[in-house]
Amino acid sequence: MLKRFSIALLAALLCAAAIGAQTPPAQDLHGRYLINHDYRPSASLTKTGWLSDYYPALLGTPGDSKVYFFEGKKPGGTLFVGGGTHANEIAGIMAAVTMLETVKIEVGRVIVVPNLNNSAVMNQEKEPTMPAYTSRGPSWIALDTPSGRRFFKYGSRATSSAQQGIPDPVGGYVHPDSKEAPLAAWEFRNLNRAYPGRTDSGLTQKIAYAIMALLKKEKVDVAFDFHEADVGGRLANMMVANPKNLDIAAAAVVNVDLDYGFTFKLEPSNMEFRGLSHREWGAWTDAASFLTETPNPAMAREADDKADVVNDPQNPLALRVATHLIATEAVVNVFSEMHPDKSIVFSGIPAYEDLLKNGLGPYLN
Ligand SMILES: [Zn+2]
Repeated sequence: MLKRFSIALLAALLCAAAIGAQTPPAQDLHGRYLINHDYRPSASLTKTGWLSDYYPALLGTPGDSKVYFFEGKKPGGTLFVGGGTHANEIAGIMAAVTMLETVKIEVGRVIVVPNLNNSAVMNQEKEPTMPAYTSRGPSWIALDTPSGRRFFKYGSRATSSAQQGIPDPVGGYVHPDSKEAPLAAWEFRNLNRAYPGRTDSGLTQKIAYAIMALLKKEKVDVAFDFHEADVGGRLANMMVANPKNLDIAAAAVVNVDLDYGFTFKLEPSNMEFRGLSHREWGAWTDAASFLTETPNPAMAREADDKADVVNDPQNPLALRVATHLIATEAVVNVFSEMHPDKSIVFSGIPAYEDLLKNGLGPYLN
């Protein structure tokens, strides 16, 4: 009897474990997904912090987000890598996560924030005033890794309207320093229109303020903001560089072409168009500032909800993650040659060819 009970119990436990391995994390009583961001840092991790360390008013808000520090034995420069400015741009988040889980630092340090806009990660609203591509896609993606199936949250382009704290402006959003025509009202909740940020405005503006404070306080030398764009559109496979560091971007783009046969488009920031990371980070801090864009199948204008953001044959997630990583590596190498006293030397991240061959899952922890 006891033996049979044990077998039944064991079977039940195994069944529960199997279901657990196949099911994304739960939703809370309000229907919001519980975001625990299952990230598993490499052995080079030296400490973790929060955006609220740089702007304490963010503490306890949905805009607070974890900051991961990786440091080598030899001092050098500081690289900042951010994903999730737009939480529907999953390759941006996953490129930052891949850096976080695999990087080995030899010289200098790397700071990673996988979810720059943590409120957008949780935003499940389909907002009628926002274009369909801004929230189209799954709620989670699943990847099979050496430790089993893992889930990563797929969100929206904008901060949740409920969490922004202030309604979208009637008549459209105008950046306080912009002389341009108003943007759509929801752009008030677009982190990449909010820099350098403000403390007397909505949650999005406060997040931008905290990120800017981090870049200054940590004396970041090279900063990357990973994005995704419409497939086949102008921005796909684009590197955007602040004009002050366009020379570094140009050399890096040539090197990526020579090393990988991969062609990036290159643009300098439009200095009249205010609020964007590459423009404002570069203008307000010492960081050489870059943004990279990869083509996300769910963001194609003609896409529907069935777009496969992981295994699309033309633009698989692994290729898009690899694209952000080779851009980062090339820029860091050029920067380190130009500034030997601020060198940043890292290894461990999966090779471009290996990601294309094996997919992303095998390289995560
Ligand atoms: Zn974006």
